[in-house]
Amino acid sequence: MLSCKALVASSSDYLDGQLRFTEGLSVRAHLAMCGNCRRFVRQLRLTLRVLQQMPEPLVSDLDAVAAQLADAAKKPD
Ligand SMILES: [Zn+2]
Repeated sequence: MLSCKALVASSSDYLDGQLRFTEGLSVRAHLAMCGNCRRFVRQLRLTLRVLQQMPEPLVSDLDAVAAQLADAAKKPD
């Protein structure tokens, strides 16, 4: 079972389809059980879509964006 931290670390690769099959399964299993990470991944997917419409240098800052979203996901509603 992945920790939430490990899931966040893999999430951009997951959305890019870059994970190995077994890694993707672990991510999916975690998402099935963890509402926080589901919300995080949904938010990250939206953010990626926006970033893809921006110039290259911003896209390379993806790790920082993912970290920011992870912090936001930890806050209660
Ligand atoms: Zn989680």
